[in-house]
Amino acid sequence: MSHRYEKSINAFEEAKKVIPGGVNSPVRALKSVEMNPIYFERGAGSKVYDLDGNEFVDYVASWGPLVAGHAHPQVVEALKKVTENGTSFGAPTLIETKLAQLVVDRVPAVDIVRMVNSGTEATMSALRLARGYTKKNKIIKFIGCYHGHADSLLIKAGSGVATLALPDSPGVPESIANHTITVHYNDLESVKAAFEQFGGDIAAIIVEPVAGNMGVVPPQPGFLEGLRSITEENGALLIFDEVMTGFRVDYGCAQGRFNIAPDLTCFGKVIGGGLPVGAYGGKKEIMEQVAPVGPIYQAGTLSGNPLAMTAGYETLSLMTPESYELLEEKGAYLEQGIRHNAEKHGIPYTINRVGSMVGFFFNEGPVHNFQQASASNLKRFARYFQLMAEYGVYIPPSQYEGMFISIVHTQEDLDFTIQANDRALETLIA
Ligand code: PLP
Repeated sequence: MSHRYEKSINAFEEAKKVIPGGVNSPVRALKSVEMNPIYFERGAGSKVYDLDGNEFVDYVASWGPLVAGHAHPQVVEALKKVTENGTSFGAPTLIETKLAQLVVDRVPAVDIVRMVNSGTEATMSALRLARGYTKKNKIIKFIGCYHGHADSLLIKAGSGVATLALPDSPGVPESIANHTITVHYNDLESVKAAFEQFGGDIAAIIVEPVAGNMGVVPPQPGFLEGLRSITEENGALLIFDEVMTGFRVDYGCAQGRFNIAPDLTCFGKVIGGGLPVGAYGGKKEIMEQVAPVGPIYQAGTLSGNPLAMTAGYETLSLMTPESYELLEEKGAYLEQGIRHNAEKHGIPYTINRVGSMVGFFFNEGPVHNFQQASASNLKRFARYFQLMAEYGVYIPPSQYEGMFISIVHTQEDLDFTIQANDRALETLIA
């Protein structure tokens, strides 16, 4: 390989001595693509630079947040200013209201919103609220959707409709797992069957309105609409987990794009512009059940942190409705280029794309759910990842993740990526 990773390899050896597995989040270990983690030193715009001096066009974007690219000057400048005035107070600051107002203005289904520190906190808190509000216990989640690592959401696929799942991870008590019903994405029949069996005790459906954690899997026409009416008919809440899609797939998030109003929405990633932020919001009547107005407790020492709020506010301010048209164009161009290459090399593939989220599967498809996504050729993907890195493109190190395009990816970046993809596919079939 022309790229050299010696410094990254050494850094990983050192890290393993003091950090479990050497990383602070498992996917970073690059195990599934049979590589050592690449240690980054710097990011600028659409590019990242590693310890060994390798340069990559970046489509990981910190797993989604960097919709305006790395170290955007407007974000960096604002962060410098705010840092000089102190990093945390544990008391309210004006920027919290500014960011909340921006979210409320762009997302009609969100009357009020509470800031937290991660996507996991957002979904965990939204579930507690849904349970407290409806006075019901069970939740429905879709197989292959990821909502963070809270106990009730780390639940494995069940074997059939409305199967009570087993805990995905040791440490999740069965008594908690028993309250999570797993059903198939894009399959309203499995949702209906779950309601027939457990309807009286179902507090909420939580769903990624575009699934982004089994590769990119868009909702089929009628799916989200169906979830909206089933929840309404059964007195359950509909929670959109827009941690990934929020302010990425459209100015008004996925719910704006598909024109569905959920009861509660979870945000993360883009809303923090690369700093640790999550948020959950929705109908006032429900949200006002949260402390200190209501009895449902949720809190955070660093919640609404001025640096995190500033990065989020500045990033979202950069994103106009035209930015999303631009992302759509860039996404379509990249999709077209990859399709052309895959056809040329006769590689079985599927591309699913929603705006700037692009999922490329080594699988003839179609891919509408987790079962279909997992029929992909994972060995081939691992090699593909290595080759793309070799040719200067850093893509998410998993077949179950999509690529993220930012507003600062240039035409040159996209052409470079399509060329790298061409070379990689050619090598794969050689
Ligand atoms: N929900 C979705 C849809 C996600 O994609 C993620 C993370 O990838 C989460 C929740 C969890 O967010 P975090 O990693 O910030 O806890």
